Amino acid sequence: MFKELFRKQRKYATIPSEQAKKEIPEGIMQKCPSCGTILIAKELEKNLKVCKSCGYHFPMSAPERIGSIVDVGRFFEYDAELLSEDPLSFPDYTKKLKQDQEKTKLNEAVVTGEGTIGGYPAVIGVMDSRFRMGSMGSVVGEKIARAAERATTKRYPFILFCASGGARMQEGVLSLMQMAKTSAALEKMNREKVLFVSVLTNPTTGGVSASFASLGDINIAEPGALIGFAGRRVIEQTVRQKLPDDFQTAEFLLKHGQLDMVVSRLELRDTLIKILEFHA
Ligand SMILES: [Zn+2]
Repeated sequence: MFKELFRKQRKYATIPSEQAKKEIPEGIMQKCPSCGTILIAKELEKNLKVCKSCGYHFPMSAPERIGSIVDVGRFFEYDAELLSEDPLSFPDYTKKLKQDQEKTKLNEAVVTGEGTIGGYPAVIGVMDSRFRMGSMGSVVGEKIARAAERATTKRYPFILFCASGGARMQEGVLSLMQMAKTSAALEKMNREKVLFVSVLTNPTTGGVSASFASLGDINIAEPGALIGFAGRRVIEQTVRQKLPDDFQTAEFLLKHGQLDMVVSRLELRDTLIKILEFHA
């Protein structure tokens, strides 16, 4: 109803002003960026941040994800005390880390720990894209590698939820080294025949997609998730070809054999329980 009202008035191309943005009170209502439906924030949360109208999956924070997957009161965090240094004295890096710590109440862009899902024990890692875009620096890599090592020792399946812009530029080559470190830890898991499930959420790109995110024994993605290494424009310029519209979406990757499943968030916990039950 509101949408029609606004459309009739719009005679000129307008750039949304700060005031226009404020028309939807933050915290009470949220607009779906995919279909434009205005959603009540509380209902959206109850529906695991999936738009009731079109099924768009809103980003989820690490605590929200853990709440939606792990059995209530059954999560014990690992390595929460690990903090990033500023090894390259990168301008403003320390300040930005501090800002993100305050904003997210997290120490870094990944939370790892162990818990039970449907009664089955598992080591769990969840990346949080609010913290430096979920980028992988030394601490993120170290926490993921340690979680994989603990999973191997305990022989618990490791379930990792990825959401990342890639390697963290402020840590330069140290950040890139995490790709090798995490991959080596997962290779050891593989040799010991311990299950690793990677859940790729929107977005999973860059060095993260090129390392642990793609190394699952089972690779699952959420619908519509952007998954890829380099950006579309870079690839188009390199190969001098127009790429398909759905390129780098979860559905495209499933069609081309790079994923095992695309699962709605509403069915994700049940799917993981089935996988854990099957491998128990
Ligand atoms: Zn929607």
